[in-house]
Amino acid sequence: MSPQTCYLRTLAIIAVVGTFAGCELREPQRFQFPAMGTLVSVSIYGAPEETASAAVRELESLLTELEHEWRSTGDGALGRANTALAEQARATIDDDLSLLIEDAMALSEQSGGLFDPSLGELIRLWGFDDSAVDDHVVPDETAIGNLLGDTSSLSLEENVLIATRSGVRIDLGAYAKGVALKRAVELLKAAGIPNAIVNMGGDLKGYGRAGDRPWRVGVRHPRDSGVLAGIELGNEESVVTSGDYERYFELDGKRYHHILDPRSGYPAADTISVTVIHEDAARADAAATALFVAGPESWPEVADALGITHVLFVGVDGTIQMTTPMSERVAFEETGEALDIKVREL
Ligand code: AMP
Ligand code: MG
Repeated sequence: MSPQTCYLRTLAIIAVVGTFAGCELREPQRFQFPAMGTLVSVSIYGAPEETASAAVRELESLLTELEHEWRSTGDGALGRANTALAEQARATIDDDLSLLIEDAMALSEQSGGLFDPSLGELIRLWGFDDSAVDDHVVPDETAIGNLLGDTSSLSLEENVLIATRSGVRIDLGAYAKGVALKRAVELLKAAGIPNAIVNMGGDLKGYGRAGDRPWRVGVRHPRDSGVLAGIELGNEESVVTSGDYERYFELDGKRYHHILDPRSGYPAADTISVTVIHEDAARADAAATALFVAGPESWPEVADALGITHVLFVGVDGTIQMTTPMSERVAFEETGEALDIKVREL
């Protein structure tokens, strides 16, 4: 770009943003829109304003479409598949959904079934599905028991899903945001954005840098509105958190949250949050859910089986456990509160 073009373009941008250095904005440009059941924030560095806005508009329509296609109810691809499974115990699905479910089933197997995309009916029974009820009740024990099974009750062959027992319904709530993050980053790169970070309600993936420094992200404190720890993101890394604060109801002083243990049918009891860092955001998403369910004793085995090396685990008693690689990456916030932290090897 000639110095003159650069100067003219800078003039156009300064009217909107204010700070600039040469032809590059010094501060990231930030955008927000609702999608995937949460508020999506996108920060972009080093792209002209118009390129950034156009890419974000494209991203918004992609995520709106994915949200519709991957909802467990309604007339999107997954909603239609669930209706067919309920009516005929089989469903023919398109290539995109087929690949998505195949990957999810493989991750489920690696997690020992703790991440289980076929739990949809149980999730609905608890009122944590897309239809999100307001008046929650604890479901009847027998009704819960009737829905317990294993992932082998679902098979997928050449775009045909087959349920081998009744009550199999697919819910990708623990996984879809991770896949969407991967696709979001692909889209932004293809649109010519050199550096960006996409944050979907605390699950995020970045690439490049924010100018002369890496992207910095905060891990939410699971029991107050502040930040528990900060992480500097490496190129292409994603940080994904599963927390009991995301969706829950309270009855008689007890919290019932949305992450269910497929072995008992009840909310996983001993965890309040799990954060993982991994390049593959989809694997990170499935893993954070699985480690949450695994609990304070057995999460390291499950992390190992899933190839996850960076884990920050917060137990229901407030104790923090971390892997060594994670301990080298996190900086805890100074709150004056003494933290009980243990480092564990996988
Ligand atoms: P996440 O925040 O990624 O842990 O996802 C939680 C969501 O995944 C819930 O709202 C449910 O829709 C779904 N879910 C709950 N428990 C499980 C589980 N054990 N395996 C797979 N999906 C689950
Ligand atoms: Mg998840």
